[in-house]
Amino acid sequence: MLSTAIWTIAFLGAIGFFLLQVGRRFAVLLKMRRDDGRNYTSATLSKRVSNTLIYAFGQYKFFRDGGIAGVLHIVVFWGFLTLGGQVTMMFARGWFPGFTLPEWLMGPYSLTKDFFQVAVLCAVGVLLYRWLVIKPQRLMGFLPAEAKLHAHKHTEAIVILCFIATIMISGFLYDAGRLVFLAGNPEIDHEAAWQPISRWIASLFGGDAALAQTVSDAAWWVHNGVILTFLNVLPRSKHFHIITAVINVFLGRVEPAGRIAKVDFTAEAPNFGRSKPMDFTWKQGLDMYSCTECGRCSAMCPATATGKPLAPRQFLLQLRDTVYAQQGDILKKKPEELLAMDVVVGEGKPVIDEVVWSCNTCRACEEACPVNIEYVDKIVAVRQHLVQEASRFPEELARTFKGLENNSNPWGLGAEEREAWTQGLDVPRVADNPNVEYLYYVGCGGALDSNNHKTTQSLAKILKQGKVSFGILGKEELCNGETARRLGNEYLFQTMAEALVTKINSTGIKKILVNCPHCFNTMTNEYPEFGGNWEVIRAGDLVSKLLAEGKIQMQNSFDKKIVYHDSCYYGRFNGVFEEPRNLLSQVPGARLEEMTLNKGKGTCCGAGGGRMWVEEKADQRVNALRVGQALEKKPDVIATSCPYCRIMIGNGVTDKGVEDQVQVMDVMQIVASGMKTEAQPV
Ligand code: SF4
Ligand code: SF4
Repeated sequence: MLSTAIWTIAFLGAIGFFLLQVGRRFAVLLKMRRDDGRNYTSATLSKRVSNTLIYAFGQYKFFRDGGIAGVLHIVVFWGFLTLGGQVTMMFARGWFPGFTLPEWLMGPYSLTKDFFQVAVLCAVGVLLYRWLVIKPQRLMGFLPAEAKLHAHKHTEAIVILCFIATIMISGFLYDAGRLVFLAGNPEIDHEAAWQPISRWIASLFGGDAALAQTVSDAAWWVHNGVILTFLNVLPRSKHFHIITAVINVFLGRVEPAGRIAKVDFTAEAPNFGRSKPMDFTWKQGLDMYSCTECGRCSAMCPATATGKPLAPRQFLLQLRDTVYAQQGDILKKKPEELLAMDVVVGEGKPVIDEVVWSCNTCRACEEACPVNIEYVDKIVAVRQHLVQEASRFPEELARTFKGLENNSNPWGLGAEEREAWTQGLDVPRVADNPNVEYLYYVGCGGALDSNNHKTTQSLAKILKQGKVSFGILGKEELCNGETARRLGNEYLFQTMAEALVTKINSTGIKKILVNCPHCFNTMTNEYPEFGGNWEVIRAGDLVSKLLAEGKIQMQNSFDKKIVYHDSCYYGRFNGVFEEPRNLLSQVPGARLEEMTLNKGKGTCCGAGGGRMWVEEKADQRVNALRVGQALEKKPDVIATSCPYCRIMIGNGVTDKGVEDQVQVMDVMQIVASGMKTEAQPV
């Protein structure tokens, strides 16, 4: 009777305190912004449920990426799910000693429980070994960007693992003791038949029923006490993800990954960017709560790898810790007072400007994150504050913004330069041929960079050979503003988007052909919000069809070893991985080899997120990192499918002094080289 009363008080006290803590955390989210432009209606429910089953319960990314840490996490996660049954029984028996599962279920459940208790114990042993002996950088923190995390003692992780081990061991002792002191009871004998490990532990009591009961009773208190303590540690630790991660995956983005939320500048309180904790949306806050601190994001980040001050995990933790530190104030203050709270970005603040400007918006971090935490939207949103409110950005960007504003291209070149690549080629203009099927939108990189002229000319030749009805805008073409948007200049982007949409709509053409992943992403995923509702077709897609239909044919040998560098905006953002590889495989003689980091794990070229226009210190260049990865395979050619990649990889090859050994070519150049044609390839 007394023990039931103590248990009831302990249970109610612990659950009450837990709910209070979690309630305060979620109350903060309720005070954060809601205008994230996302669709949370029931129309998205099936997608959300399938994401939750795949990524949260299915632990998809751990299976996909393999590795010992992932396997251990799967074991612990599924173990916890399974052992939820035992926890429920052990809690309930505090009031109803005979509480149990139906007989038909109890046997199979007992067997599964026994298995997972052993598996989780083994996993905890290996995890402790990793934390205490191996100490991998991914756990301890990457230097220099994660110096703060690296300086932590990581005691919390060790304590939590000890908690888990204690729960497993006490669970075993509790069950084993019952098998002895309740022996003869048909229900218990049935359980015993299904619990080989617990049965073996029970044998260690040597039939001493009194000892078994004492140990079992003590184990019950330890088990339940540790769980109630664990529960109350969760909201104060990285293990809060145990509560929030599944919810975070469920509420994650169902919109295209490549779409930055449109800022409504006509709204009553437009958001010019994020700088204070309360500027972030509730979903971005939930991301902060859900981080497991596993470091998979930072391990894939090119900025972290090249020694820049950005590591996505540390960036997120800085934001999270600021929200935690300000929680009391946030809950007390009125909305207008929240607006006056301290900013989180700037000199001497949790996040310095350079962190935000180091990002390539490559999405490698998001692809790696097992709980689907998003980074690009947060980084761009902080940039929006720096550009639009604080007017603080790398000085070289002033030239880029001016070029975009005045000349509609980041180089600031004159409009007539957009036609330079057409010299010697009879390329039709839409102005002269309004009834063409495709508008070939060349884009700034393809039209204005002399090295990319070879790509653009190659594609034009393929189109002509395939008798495709197409035309270009030529000097009337305008930049789509992608660079401005990723650099945080949302207002400039919107102005440019509206101008280009008006221009293209005035032609009446509905099929837009592009050979640039940035143009493709923006025009496909972002322009519909600005009235650009066209079919945007990748050049690779169209050329594949021309080949399949026999409208172009391969004939010339391209006897070279090729490594293909995936562009982030075709690959990770839009899932285009196989198409360029298939095209290359059709070129006679071409031998394709994969880089170690390829497809979803491929490293950015260094140009994404407007970084093309930001100076990099010589020893921190992302293109040097990527070219180094390519050279490991000793290729003759590094193939690209993005004008910015071509420039960055080309510069990297030149910087390393290997331009005599390795060529950098766009996929279209290689296809044109292999194509049967009377004209010589470019
Ligand atoms: S988007 Fe790329 S560069 Fe930016 S934080 Fe993520 S991995 Fe790093
Ligand atoms: S953001 Fe995701 S990948 Fe990065 S540390 Fe947190 S949980 Fe791990």
